[in-house]
Amino acid sequence: MEAISDTPKYGSLKEALIGIYGEDVRVKDRRAVHGGDANEAYSLYLSNGETLFIKANSVERADFFRAEAEGISAIRSTGAIRVPRIYATGADEGYSFLLMEYIDSVRAVESFWEKLGTDLARMHKADTAAFSKSGKYGFNRDNYIGAGYQKNAVKDSFIEFFAECRLRPQFELAEKYFDDDMVRKINRLLDTLDRYLIEPDMPSLLHGDLWSGNFMADEKGMPMLIDPAVYVGCNEADIAMTELFGGFDKRFYDSYFGFIGMVPGYDDRRDLYNLYHLLNHLNLFGSSYLYAVVRTIERYSFF
Ligand code: ADP
Repeated sequence: MEAISDTPKYGSLKEALIGIYGEDVRVKDRRAVHGGDANEAYSLYLSNGETLFIKANSVERADFFRAEAEGISAIRSTGAIRVPRIYATGADEGYSFLLMEYIDSVRAVESFWEKLGTDLARMHKADTAAFSKSGKYGFNRDNYIGAGYQKNAVKDSFIEFFAECRLRPQFELAEKYFDDDMVRKINRLLDTLDRYLIEPDMPSLLHGDLWSGNFMADEKGMPMLIDPAVYVGCNEADIAMTELFGGFDKRFYDSYFGFIGMVPGYDDRRDLYNLYHLLNHLNLFGSSYLYAVVRTIERYSFF
């Protein structure tokens, strides 16, 4: 895997542009790009005729962009699916930024969903040894999911990883929402997760935040992934998230499972993987997610 140090880090956007083009290039114009959920995003029109894409946030968020760059680099290294080329991370007066290739997206081709399914399956089958060096599951660094912190301590058991790095930190953040009875159920769930989840046949590099806003069609209408929250985990967790908020065509699932195979019982595990995302949403956006969280905990903590 390309290490994060391979993504140049600059003190300012001006320096970054000189670093990329080897000459003093100015930003002639910029246009806001909407659709993201965490950052300001713009296409930058440069004096040398090139266009770049930039995401910006406060200086304190600089590590978010370094983590995103490293996640994209991990996905790219599998060779399975296109991700934007990352040029630089940096911090200028008052903001941090991530500078990448601008994708002039066009309408998706007819085979878009099939290709997204097989590309993702190929990514899930890629060797993961470089991504979680001291064990099977996790990632070489912590990262972020939206504005939420995502712990990636490496573990040899996926079930232990999912309990300790996914559910428990989110439960701790959401403590104020739960009464004693609920806390008992949560602890029971964490202690008995192996009744519901399985250790995967193979570890997979996951996108980690695979909702319909995080894939796009490139300039040929082919699929690509953006804005990941990568870690090595169970492939089913990525698929479960696609079902949480919807927007993925049936052809995607047919081609994905046609390529990789479905392990029996997936339907019973799906909501447990998604409990992580519901908890993250509860912690980021508030109590409108509480009912769904409580219902899922109740379902998986019966005995
Ligand atoms: P955020 O981190 O705020 O969630 P995203 O990475 O999702 O931001 O990007 C915001 C929007 O910008 C996306 O929905 C997509 O439409 C567009 N976008 C993302 N990456 C690129 C790119 N490299 N080139 C052009 N447009 C992009």
